[in-house]
Amino acid sequence: MANQDDLFKKLVSHCKEYGFVFQSSEVYDGLAAVYDYGPYGVELKNNIKKYWWMAMVQMHENIVGLDAAIFMDPKTWQASGHVAAFSDPMIDNKDSNKRYRADQLVEEYVEKKVMKKANKEIEKARKRFGESFNEEEYRSTNPRVMGYLEKSKTILTRLNTSLTNGDLADVKNLIEELEIACPESGSRNWTEVREFNLMFNTQLGTIAGEAGKLYLRPETAQGIFVNFLNVQKTTRQKIPFGIAQIGKAFRNEIVARQFIFRMREFEQMEMQFFVRPGEQKKWYEYWKGFRMKWHQAIHPSKKLQFHDHEKLAFYADAALDIEFEFPFGFRELEGIHSRTDHDLNAHQELSGRKLQYFDPELKESYVPYVVETSIGVDRMFLATMANALVEETVPNADGKDSTRTVLRVHPALAPIKCAVLPLVKNNEEFTSKAREIFNHIKYSFECQYDEKDSPGKRYRRQDAIGTPYCITIDGQTLEDNTVTIRDRDTMEQTRIVIDNIEKVVLEKINMRHLLK
Ligand code: ATP
Repeated sequence: MANQDDLFKKLVSHCKEYGFVFQSSEVYDGLAAVYDYGPYGVELKNNIKKYWWMAMVQMHENIVGLDAAIFMDPKTWQASGHVAAFSDPMIDNKDSNKRYRADQLVEEYVEKKVMKKANKEIEKARKRFGESFNEEEYRSTNPRVMGYLEKSKTILTRLNTSLTNGDLADVKNLIEELEIACPESGSRNWTEVREFNLMFNTQLGTIAGEAGKLYLRPETAQGIFVNFLNVQKTTRQKIPFGIAQIGKAFRNEIVARQFIFRMREFEQMEMQFFVRPGEQKKWYEYWKGFRMKWHQAIHPSKKLQFHDHEKLAFYADAALDIEFEFPFGFRELEGIHSRTDHDLNAHQELSGRKLQYFDPELKESYVPYVVETSIGVDRMFLATMANALVEETVPNADGKDSTRTVLRVHPALAPIKCAVLPLVKNNEEFTSKAREIFNHIKYSFECQYDEKDSPGKRYRRQDAIGTPYCITIDGQTLEDNTVTIRDRDTMEQTRIVIDNIEKVVLEKINMRHLLK
């Protein structure tokens, strides 16, 4: 079986070869960590956003949408704390001139040099003991494994403490003590560790200097906070209620690797849920469960896990990530945070405007508490592709085996829902009938007409982009108005009457299957 690295490379090249994702400005050798979505990518991405929007806004009477601007008054980012503290600790290697995130260098060391050894021991023992192996017991009794786990904990605790205390000199000491070398130059010739602010900025044309400095928003959430009262009043929502938004965010990531997992320009789907102070725990639990179910409708449960934050932001009273098992391991896909009244209070203070809600039941005004759910569209896209893309052995028409690449994406998310294929292209009767069908069903969903190459090749092409159904128009169609309909997953072909195509496809691609 191919290893995870190979699988990931295959996924990246599949995304390019089949028009899902291209490197930005590729003709100029590409802009690092910026990507463009191709024809099938944009369809899949739109469907993911639709699935989120339906689950959050359409299915909740008390959640409404918003589309705030990317530029905001720069004071927004002072109040939110981004100007002062939205930074990562960076370090440069003086020989390779490569820049790294200091915390990630240490975390990678722990993963590759310590935990890998522990996991190797555990796997060896699993093989030795077979069915009777008890991993938990082995972890807490085997001296070698215990040693590795202890070492990993000691290093990570020290890293977290130093970062929390802003003691960057100690982070540098840790890197030196662990003898971490630059992966590029192999040298340990490091600069000091410094904070690097991740916000991009630009300049307003009409105002010179600091006063005209504008930021590209690093998250969509602040647009929701500052509009909290506008939305509440105009929609007459009562607490608890939520505001949902999908939009671009920008972060000048120091290390942007792993394809669309970490980008400098990306898209977020965020929802801020405003609740009575004191009720945040209940809602945190609600959103934790709801969001996990949303993921489980798409991904197998074993590829998803909760990860409670070890280190909470000073204002937060609970936070966790929903992690997905990407080809490079379990990583954050979505964050759920109980942010108290921190953001609204900060905007209230700096703007001098009241951001309070009058609770008619309690007959008092207060600044609501907020529970937020925040997910990256691009990470969700990557997770969906990684989970759906499979290579499998299938029997050919001649009885021999061949491999096919198939994107087993949920039909509701598939870029193209139905391909319309005349059996041969040089038969005017077939092609005009196929066009007629295409022109009829295109009103209901995304279709594709294809007459190039052999039927086998066309099927493979549709499999690779995840099209749930292919319709073929053949001799019999002209006689009795039936077509064959081929199912992507089973590859079974059945005959149906033309008038039924729309109904069959619409049933299969209905978002309801995911939302229920
Ligand atoms: P990470 O720890 O991976 O940098 P984060 O904790 O900074 O992520 P949040 O600020 O909680 O991320 O952002 C919410 C979501 O936005 C993340 O769960 C992720 O899906 C997405 N996201 C954040 N940064 C990026 C990025 N650079 N590229 C793509 N998606 C991102």
